[in-house]
Amino acid sequence: MRKKIFITGASSGIGKGIAKHLAEKNHVIISDCDGDKIKAAQADLRAQGHRVEAQVFDVTSESDLASLQQQAQSQGIDVLINNAGMQYVSKIEDFPPQKWQQLIDIMLVGPAMTTQAVLPAMKAKNFGRIINIGSVHSLVASAYKSAYVAAKHGLIGLAKTVALEVAAHDITINTVCPGYVDTDMVRDQIKQQAAVHQISESEVIEKIMLKNMPKKTFIEIVELAGTVEFLIGPFAKNITAQAITLDGGWTAH
Ligand code: NAD
Repeated sequence: MRKKIFITGASSGIGKGIAKHLAEKNHVIISDCDGDKIKAAQADLRAQGHRVEAQVFDVTSESDLASLQQQAQSQGIDVLINNAGMQYVSKIEDFPPQKWQQLIDIMLVGPAMTTQAVLPAMKAKNFGRIINIGSVHSLVASAYKSAYVAAKHGLIGLAKTVALEVAAHDITINTVCPGYVDTDMVRDQIKQQAAVHQISESEVIEKIMLKNMPKKTFIEIVELAGTVEFLIGPFAKNITAQAITLDGGWTAH
């Protein structure tokens, strides 16, 4: 079945990659708070032969959330992918309170509110699939990432709770939890860590990023896209409230 799929934070990295993969068989709407970036992403995907709709959408904006609710009611949304995110690294004593709040707003309150916005339409249709892009940091912690780790852990509780509330409507909600993926977000961290530790970027990758990943390789975006495709497909209809982990063995430690 061709599904209508709405992805947040999809102008780059994981969201854009998932959109590219799913656009072959589905109607995909990519969205992002950055208007220029989302237009550029749409043009890039179209140039590669992938037709996607694009929309400016900020997961923290009350008016954007209200519009999403109307859009879901009038045009339908079968699949919501909560992907928007950001990182900020600091020890807790120095963490700016506004930054802590911003990370929680984007990566925990945002997914809760987008879920709230699409659920009435999904319930009316008796079908829905919600995927949260969590992280290995939904399951374990790394120092200096308190807001990120707290937000990503929170997604698992959100999914468990919503799963119970909507199970009778054939709506599932799961959290995909990758280890490090080579995207802009991670490239920024690599640069920062190289400067802080006065080592080269390749040493950061080897000694810091992949240290906890026994398979010693980044997770590829296509692996995440394939996992999402499985979770929205017929064989996963009874998989709900789960954390699906792609971490190269990280959490076996
Ligand atoms: P990215 O920086 O390429 O993409 C994140 C996108 O979110 C950006 O396009 C940004 O504009 C958008 N965004 C930020 N705030 C927003 C808001 N308020 N409303 C709408 N969009 C907003 O990063 P990525 O690596 O592709 O990350 C995507 C998701 O995957 C994030 O939730 C991230 O935490 C998660 N993740 C990434 C990794 C990794 O190693 N890259 C690992 C685990 C989980």
